[in-house]
Order: sequence, then structure tokens, then C-alpha cells
Amino acid sequence: MTARTHDLAAITALGVVFILRPSATITLSTAIVAVLANLIGGITPDIDQPTAPLWRNLPIGKYFGRMFGMLNGGHRFLTHSLVGLYLFGLAAHWFLQLVHPITGSVDLDLVWRAFMLGMLSHLVMDTLTKEGVPWLLPIPIKFGVPPLKRLRITTGKAGETLLVFPALILFNIAFYFAHYHQLLNILHRHIT
Ligand SMILES: [Zn+2]
Repeated sequence: MTARTHDLAAITALGVVFILRPSATITLSTAIVAVLANLIGGITPDIDQPTAPLWRNLPIGKYFGRMFGMLNGGHRFLTHSLVGLYLFGLAAHWFLQLVHPITGSVDLDLVWRAFMLGMLSHLVMDTLTKEGVPWLLPIPIKFGVPPLKRLRITTGKAGETLLVFPALILFNIAFYFAHYHQLLNILHRHIT
């Protein structure tokens, strides 16, 4: 899937968890940083592509991208697996501990969870594509839904832009419409 779809999927997942399992209180700064972390998590597994947005926006990012791709074993390998998720979870946790002294009132536990949710949503979305996802590495099998490859989506093609992306938007509209009161309630009670 493209970065645009991954970001939308990440923020969709975050919204659903935020509404259905609201945390006791959340500061506005935590909410903003959590959304950013969620969006970054949503595209992080694709840092194994030399053309990933992260690398494209850095001056010599293309070379870093290639290098990382080789270390990772090529596209859709380690960063697209549960082991990769675990390792990135540890790395993100370590990074957040490091910046903890300068983050003030930001709840880093929520930020970490938002990041992980973004990453998880990425793997789920890529599972819908023809290429599939090697969830259980080192077992080298790529899983896909539906199991019949022919019925799956090709990244960037009509199936994604005309079906998956609009479906996610429609889902968001329907979801927030159905949970409008919960949303208002949470915004009033929980954001401080
Ligand atoms: Zn991917």
C-alpha cells in the first residue's frame, strides 16, 4: 500500500482505540505527539524501500534506504513481521526513555502505544496486497487475505485508490457519526 493509505489506516486504528478504550486523562500535548507517533509508525515498516518517504526526504536518504533494505533482507522482510514489530517496539521504547527528560507532561506510554498501533495497522493493510506479509519470520511464508492472491490488492492501483482508501474514509465517517457522543464526552472529560 502507499504511504497515504498507511497513514489513513494508522489514524483510523488510533481513532477506534481512542474512542472505544479511552484512557483516564490525556493532555493536549500527549494527543498531538501520539498522533504524530502513530503516523510515523504507520509508514515505518516501509523504511526497507529505498523510495520510502522517510528516505526520499533526506538529502542522501536514497543510499541509506538501499543499505537498510539490504540489512533487512529486502522489501517486506524483517520490518513486516512480528519479530520486526517486537524489535521496533524495543527501539521505540528505548528512544522514548532517552528523550523523556525533555518531554514534559507528554505521556510517553500512550505515545509508544500509538506508534505500535500505527506499525501494526501497516502490517494488517499490507496483508491485503498481492505481495502478502511474512508475519511469522523466520518462517519464510508470506500471508495474505483473502488467501487467493488473485483477489488481493495491487499497491497503488485501482483496488487501493478506488476501494481501500475510500472504504477507510467511509468507515471513519460512519464510526465518528455512530460514536459522536462518546467523542464529545471524551474531549470534554479527558483532554486537559
Ligand atoms: Zn509495507
